[in-house]
Parts: sequence; C-alpha cells; structure tokens
Amino acid sequence: MGVKVGIDLGTTFSAVAVINEKTGQPNIVPNTAGERITPSVIQFTENGDIIVGTEAKDAYEFGEYGCTSVFKRCMGNDEPYCTFYGKSYSSEELSAILLRYLKEEAEAVLHQTIDEAVVTVPAYFYHKERGATLRAAKRAGLNVRQLINEPTAAAMSYGVNHWRENANILVYDLGGGTFDVTLVEMKKNGQMISKQTKGNHILGGKDWDSSLSSLIINKIESEIAYYKQDHPEIESIVAQSAESIKKQLTTKNTAQISLYLPEYGTYKTEISIDDFNSVTVDLLNETGTLCRDVLQEAGLTWENLTDILLVGGSTRMRQVSDYLYKLSGNRHKPLTQVNPDEAVALGAAIQVHLPLPKYIVLSSAPSDDKDLKTANYQFRKTKAKPKSYLPGKIGKETALPSALSIVQRDVVAHAMGVIAVNQEGTAYINKTIVPANQTIPVKYAESFNYYTSSYEENEVEIYVLQGEKPPLESEIIGKYVVSGITHNPNENPTIIKIQYSYDINGMIHVQARQGNGKSDLPIREEGIPDDMSKYGRPIDESEKPKKLGDLYVVMALDVSGSMSGKPLKNASDAMCNFIDMLSDYPGKVEIGVLAVSDRTCCVQALTTNMEKCKKETQSITCGLTGYCNAADPFDEIKNMLHGKKGKKIGIVLADGVWENQYDAVLRAKKCHKSEIDIIGIGFGSADEQFLKDISSGDIDSMMVARSGELTKSFGKIAQEIGGSGKKHSRFDTKQKTETWQAPGE
Ligand code: ADP
Ligand code: MG
Repeated sequence: MGVKVGIDLGTTFSAVAVINEKTGQPNIVPNTAGERITPSVIQFTENGDIIVGTEAKDAYEFGEYGCTSVFKRCMGNDEPYCTFYGKSYSSEELSAILLRYLKEEAEAVLHQTIDEAVVTVPAYFYHKERGATLRAAKRAGLNVRQLINEPTAAAMSYGVNHWRENANILVYDLGGGTFDVTLVEMKKNGQMISKQTKGNHILGGKDWDSSLSSLIINKIESEIAYYKQDHPEIESIVAQSAESIKKQLTTKNTAQISLYLPEYGTYKTEISIDDFNSVTVDLLNETGTLCRDVLQEAGLTWENLTDILLVGGSTRMRQVSDYLYKLSGNRHKPLTQVNPDEAVALGAAIQVHLPLPKYIVLSSAPSDDKDLKTANYQFRKTKAKPKSYLPGKIGKETALPSALSIVQRDVVAHAMGVIAVNQEGTAYINKTIVPANQTIPVKYAESFNYYTSSYEENEVEIYVLQGEKPPLESEIIGKYVVSGITHNPNENPTIIKIQYSYDINGMIHVQARQGNGKSDLPIREEGIPDDMSKYGRPIDESEKPKKLGDLYVVMALDVSGSMSGKPLKNASDAMCNFIDMLSDYPGKVEIGVLAVSDRTCCVQALTTNMEKCKKETQSITCGLTGYCNAADPFDEIKNMLHGKKGKKIGIVLADGVWENQYDAVLRAKKCHKSEIDIIGIGFGSADEQFLKDISSGDIDSMMVARSGELTKSFGKIAQEIGGSGKKHSRFDTKQKTETWQAPGE
C-alpha cells in the first residue's frame, strides 16, 4: 500500500507533503539532502544525467550550460522552452522531469511508493496550463487525484489549525513568478469555499529582482560612468546577485553590494530599503488593484474581511505586509501563521484525503492523453543517504481525524465563452457561457437553432474561449466540431444543445446533443487555425449575406384538393420556417402570402410583421379558393410587388398539373419583365417543365418528391437570397436548457 502526497509544483521552489498518521497533521517531506523545499531548476549534463534542485540552481547561478528554470511560466505552450545537447524540452516535459524527481526523492525518504497525489496550480491557470500539468504528472508516473488552486491549498493548511466560523480570508499569494489573490470563506461544519479569485501569472518575485537590477545598473552608470551599452555583460552580473540583495533587505534596512565589473574591478555600493521600495511600488500596486477587485466582486469591504493570509516566498518582503496594512485602511495586519514556502504543499496533502466533489466523468478523454506514457529519466544520484525526517511513521492509509474533515470547494477564475456573432450581425463577440468564479465542478448548457439546407451538412464548429475580452484577446481554448447531426425534414431548424463544463480540475469539457436526444453527438477537437484574424475584424461583406437592399417576397401556395392533410401542413410549416430563416436578412424584409386554386386570394398583404405572417400562413385551409387549379397567382404577385424598390421575389408552390399552364407561363413572363424573380417549387405530380418555364433569375426551379422535403428547398432559397439557412447558424441568445449527466456520472 502506497502513500498519498500533496505536491506544490512551484515556479521557483517545489515541495511535497504527507499527512502524519499519528497527529493527523500535514508534514513536509524533505528531499534526500534534507531540504524542505526543492528549487524548480534542472540541469542536463553531457552524459545524459539530469540534475534537479539546489545543485542545478547553483550551476544555473554560475552560468553553467544545460540549466533551465522558471519553465512553469510557459506551461501549456507546446513550443520548446529550451534546447541542450541537441534536444529540445517543452515546459510540460521539464515539469514532468521535476515531478518525477520529487516523486523519487519523496519515495526514498518515506520508504514507500507514492500512489496518489494532489498537485497544486495557480488559481489563474487556464485550461491549457492545467491540461499540461496533468499530462506532465502522468508522464512522471504520478496518479493525480485532483489539481487544486494554490491559494485554496494554503488556506486549508491555515484552516486546519485556525478554524473560524463564518470568516472571510483573503489569501495573498506572491510567489516567484505568479500572483494570485483569492477570497476563501470558512463556514460552518468545516466547509471551506473559495469565492473569488484573480491573478496575474507574469507577476512575481522575478519582477522585483528585475526592478532591483535596473536600480543597481542606474547607480553604476551614474556613479562610475560604467555604461550598459559599452558593457552589456553588466546585466547578467547584476541579475545574478539581485535576488540575494533583495533577500538581505528582508531583514536589514540597507544591503551591501560588491560586484566584480570587467575592466573596472570591484565595485561596492549599498541599496536602501527605501530605494528598493520606491522602484517596486508599481508592482505592489498591481497586486493591490487585484485585491480590491476581488473584494468588490464578492461584495465585501476591508471592514467585513476577517483576515489577510500571506503565502508565497515573496511575501517575506516587508513592503508586502506594510502595503496591505495600509491598503486595508490600517485594519488588517496580515497573518503570518503559515510558512509561506510550505503552506501550499501542506494544504494539498490534506486535500488528497478528502472526498472528491461530484465529478464530471469525461465522455471522451482528450485524445493526446490516452497514449501518454510514463517517461524514464535518469537522475544523477546524490551521495547523501536518505534520512527519515518525519515525526512518527507514515503507516497505512487512515482517514483524517474528524477535526480535519474540511469540505473544500474551489472556483475557477476565468469565464468560459464561445465565439458568436453579435445581434446586429456586424462583429464576432465572446459570448459568455459560464461566468467567472463559479464553484467547480459546474456545467452550463445552451441550445441554438441549426438551420441547414443540405443533407451533407451535419457539423457545427464551436470555438471555446476563456476570459471575457473580445475573441482574439481571450485565451482560445479549442475548436470543437460537433458531428453526426441527423436531419429530419419536418424539423428545420434542428435544435442543438451544447453543454459546457468545468470539472474539478478546472478543465473544460464540451458535449452536444440533438433535440431531446439522450445520447451525446460525437465531438472532435481540431487544431485552432493559424489565421484567426477574421474574428477580430468586423464581419465583412463577403462573409455576410450579400446586401441586397430591401427584400419583398410573395409566396403563393396551391390549396387545391390534392393538398388536403399532411401536404398542406408540411407546406405551411416549411413556409413559416422560411420566414424565420429570413429574420437575419441584412435589410428590410416584407413578406406576403397568397392562396391559389380556382381563384387567388390574398392571405397576408406584404408585411414586416413576421409573427402575423406566420400565423396567417398556418391558418390557410385546403379548398380556401376552390378545389381545382383553374387559376394562377402571377398577376396578383405582380400587383403586390408593383412599385417596390429592392429585390422582388415570387415563390410558387405547385402540387399537380394546373389547368391553364400556357397562360400561366405568359403571365409569369410579365413578372420577369417587371424584375420579379419567380421560383417554382413543385411536389407530388407537379409538371417539372412548367416549373422551369415559370422560373427566372439565379435560383432554379425545384422538384421535390414529397411535401416533407419542402423545408430543404426553402433553406436553399433563403441561403441564396441572403437569409440564414447557413451552416453556422446564429445562437439564439438567452435560451437555456437543462444540463445533463455524462454516462457513468
Ligand atoms: P513559487 O511558488 O512561484 O515557486 P515561492 O513561493 O517559492 O515561489 O517564492 C519564491 C520567490 O520568493 C522568489 O522570487 C524568491 O526570490 C522570493 N523570496 C524567497 N525568500 C525571500 C526573502 N527572504 N525575501 C524576499 N523574497 C524572497
Ligand atoms: Mg508557490
């Protein structure tokens, strides 16, 4: 039986923790060298060995070849992060190496195998970065129970020993490369809920180091006229000592600096804490803004906040506490009860023993995950003999003492949206589906009308985004193609329901169903096209249905006896669908309806009131104008469209052979002369040649075998004259449907 651990996979330092069976408390598992945290630095050597941790960090600081660090900042980016000895490594692979190392070290110290882990990630990580973390863990041979947010984990390690009911704790996590601020509420019965989180994943201790470096370089330039432009190496010389100078200023008011400058010799100076504070105040202000935003969005003020908890190595800088104290109107002296380097791993160790919230079982695992194998890495063995550092033996698995029975719920920082067309049809927008800061797991579903005009079209493309900015400024997560849509001629538009969810790891899943179907439609993930620029531009004319000016359509329906029953119902339904399809026509649309058999009668004069038009169409009865086909509607069509400026169209639905087809064709030709396009649609025993003769313009006449297929013909007409009926249909906003369960959930 193995052991379960919590792992803080940090940008600059990582740590592993377990629950001590005797005390029920989480403890850090030191590495085999006895260090409680391990630098997240890797060195590749010429003979293929890999060195991880302090030795690699030292080599890195000496500028040795083969060293790499801070790769977590590029997590989720597939491009190589570094290349050594002809081999390139992505951030994901480097993280896998680091995780594997942490695992082997902890196993050596614990004398047990690790069989499950909770790994922490910055709350601000997107879907891609979380996915890369999960894959890295898998490559490292870790069985990951769950990812949790670092600030949440830190709050848990605090809460274990300092539980307070109905307390709102602001967790301020400033690490080496990232900043996160999270509001955590401790409720009754050990419930701990993360309510809001925000962050900046390119803001951390490294940026304080850079500001300090610039300050020192300015000082050198002005004091001894030793310029960066003449001595570019000055940057790396200063950068190497910036971090230790920063650390000196944690305990002292001035830091002594001694640097060897080529062609100059030893340069000595000092930096005061005030100088340091003044060049980094902007960085602090950036964190302050995010803190205020989090409080505001949670509807809290500094007054009703209970406490501020500091996490992350950079909160050791004195300026952080002082700044937050002032920011809170001198109300809160930040808590220092947790060790900022260790709290995250300790919290993860607690989480690994807690019951999982209801989990969304994936109907389809991301395809690149399935064949991901555990990699083998050859680490250079340290000479130090592993010691056991843990108080008490970590024995077989036990449940946590009841005092620790926390129920933890995380949130996800980012809203999830899709690329959609705005209401005016003029631009692409990011339409939010799942708002930010929802407790996970969470699912939302949405349905939309999918219009089609062809049986071959059975796919819908969806671009999923994270963030609330316009499409190209948000994170484009993926292109999901829903396929297998089946067409029922009586049902156009088809209703497609899409369900979007965040699972407990904050990972996104998309599922789709058709109509009231009970099984999921197949979805495949496709690469995001290289050129997405069109989603940043106004929708241009070529993509939009051609602007044809005003549109006037008269539909004439054959209501002779042969139409009775189903054919009439199918025809009027198809006409109503057609009216819907024209609702996104760019410009004014007026539609009129005629019934024709022995006479012609106007059912609806030209109108822009589509609802009324549909209602009148549905009220048409068989035999309304007699049961035979003595008449034709062309004169009436011509009269109705007389004097209209714009596109004029007459659509004639004919069933069977009309009595006076010869005269009808002559009258139809008069319509053509008056620039009215006539489109004949026939079904049943209609005369195909007659339909061709009456038709004009760009759109051919059409014959369908059964009245049930009329919708298809209308879809084609709508598409050609510039209505919807398009493959990628519009989203009907606000229409929400219930979510559904995945198989096995
Ligand atoms: P991460 O989780 O991103 O790996 P950590 O929480 O381990 O980061 O914090 C590392 C950062 O903390 C580094 O930028 C380091 O310089 C900074 N740090 C550590 N100790 C001190 C200190 N005494 N004073 C100032 N900064 C410190
Ligand atoms: Mg950290």
